[in-house]
Amino acid sequence: TPLDRIRNFSIIAHIDHGKSTLADRLIQRTGGLSDREMTAQVLDNMEIEKERGITIKAQTVRLDYKGYVLNLMDTPGHVDFAYEVSRSLAACEGALLVVDAAQGVEAQTLANVYQSIEHDHEIVPVINKIDLPAAEPDKVKAEIEDIIGLPADDAVLASAKSGIGIDEILDAIVARIPAPKGDSEAPLKAMLVDSWYDPYLGVVILVRVVDGVLRKGQQIKFMNAGTTHLVDRVGCFRPKIEQLADLGPGEIGFITAQIKEITETRVGDTITDARRPAPAALAGFKEVQPVVFCGLFPVDANDFEKLRESISKLRLNDASFSFEMETSAALGFGFRCGFLGLLHLEIIQERLTREYDLDLITTAPSVVYHIHLTHSKTEDAHMIELHNPADMPDPNRIESIEEPWIEATIYVPDEYLGAILKLCQDRRGIQQDLTYVGGRAQLRYELPLNEVVFDFYDRLKSISRGYASFDYHQIGYREGDLVKMSILVNNEPVDALSMIVHRAAAEARGRHMCERLKDLIPRHLFKIPIQAAIGGKVIARETIAALRKDVTAKCYGGDITRKRKLLEKQKEGKKRMREYGSVQIPQEAFIAALRMG
Ligand code: GDP
Ligand code: MG
Repeated sequence: TPLDRIRNFSIIAHIDHGKSTLADRLIQRTGGLSDREMTAQVLDNMEIEKERGITIKAQTVRLDYKGYVLNLMDTPGHVDFAYEVSRSLAACEGALLVVDAAQGVEAQTLANVYQSIEHDHEIVPVINKIDLPAAEPDKVKAEIEDIIGLPADDAVLASAKSGIGIDEILDAIVARIPAPKGDSEAPLKAMLVDSWYDPYLGVVILVRVVDGVLRKGQQIKFMNAGTTHLVDRVGCFRPKIEQLADLGPGEIGFITAQIKEITETRVGDTITDARRPAPAALAGFKEVQPVVFCGLFPVDANDFEKLRESISKLRLNDASFSFEMETSAALGFGFRCGFLGLLHLEIIQERLTREYDLDLITTAPSVVYHIHLTHSKTEDAHMIELHNPADMPDPNRIESIEEPWIEATIYVPDEYLGAILKLCQDRRGIQQDLTYVGGRAQLRYELPLNEVVFDFYDRLKSISRGYASFDYHQIGYREGDLVKMSILVNNEPVDALSMIVHRAAAEARGRHMCERLKDLIPRHLFKIPIQAAIGGKVIARETIAALRKDVTAKCYGGDITRKRKLLEKQKEGKKRMREYGSVQIPQEAFIAALRMG
């Protein structure tokens, strides 16, 4: 396809403003699928994506419109996947900014819009849902101009649901989004935008060709990984697979090259011709490193092998999470897993539970600490990376502990600013900047990642009623006064609940954990002490009173069906319990105890 006939764009929107519906409508209008094949939300193909409305893996569809080739890239919207968003945006020249005509501009869109602007995108505003009685397109236009600073005079008014404005959107893409640039004679240079494992095709690689031509039968080289492969398929998605002879400059499509492991393909790598390599790789290659770790253990020890198989399968599709075997005194055999962030952790955990039907216990999430050790009889002084609080070395050998810090950017409507400032302050944040964009505050804070991984994002959302948006990047390691806090139930340490905390926050956190556990652990026939301790020193304690036998009898004695229900519920619950010093702890207690509320 000649360059001037290609347009590459993505769609950015706040959740629920209609991105998926619009994408489906564009595919339908340009004939990618027959009406019969058109099932709702073609682009969100994973079950969890559909349910949560989160796009996890970027997908691309090629549309034909009036002699033009339009490549629509879907992008994940969440900070955990910021790097994938950035790669997808780098593959486009423009974006549709979809705003709900009744809701107006919302803060979660902002981070993505600014990323898009950073990539020099031409942005076409689309005001969606104009069919709604509450639609206020003029007010929304003004918001786009005031808050985002984009001209909105020629914003397209649309209803993805009723099919209004679809042709206008397609025309605007052709007229306003610039054609890609590139040189078909130059040595091949293509960006590896995404990759995933397909049971029939093996590893599929999504590419954006910058210069040169990518052909079937070509020997290619991944410039950062240093490996070479033979291309055996070239094609695109419409969204059905269509094989092509080649992909030229400016084109987006996929290749397969008999690659078995997704770990061999790294997002952001540059693909070149092995026989005629480009002199330099494309800028911006970044290795994605897991930043949050936790242990995953089967509730039923017999499920360990099943867990191993399931994790290995998931890993085929997601090279960004890591795992290695772990043993815990209380939980038995399991895996220590690394994730890009908390949402990533939740998604993997949920897929294991749902798609592989596993009952799991998840331990407290932890970041990676740098522990500097003094020399001992057998070892010189050196640094270790600690992924698991349970592996904390003897405090006497620790010279210092460093923890990862991030710089966070937060957009928040003025009315919630005070509460957000307090949240950041409580989490040891250091304010860098506070400015106003439209009616919103833009805050920049440096924060220890440790304070963010638990529930920072949830708190931010609930304090601001969903209006705050949050984005962050790591800024390196800094020394901190950190200690390991253990939790003891009935005088027995529960290794899965031990965590590394800032000394100043230890007492409050310990007290909170004890109070939480007191509520979460059911009463037993004996008294149960719950304690938080640093080293041998108890810093907080609670006691669960013993259950009086006749209480249940009295409560449920009369109503036999209610009693049976209760017993059944208890039986169901049994599976999800763990025993510590003859105390039964329900699985929910592990997760719930870690939320700071
Ligand atoms: P996404 O989260 O941005 O992908 O949003 P969806 O495409 O999933 O849409 C969210 C909800 O808004 C769904 O219930 C859609 O049916 C609805 N919706 C999308 N576009 C329109 C529209 O133009 N008009 C109306 N009334 N509803 C719409
Ligand atoms: Mg969607």
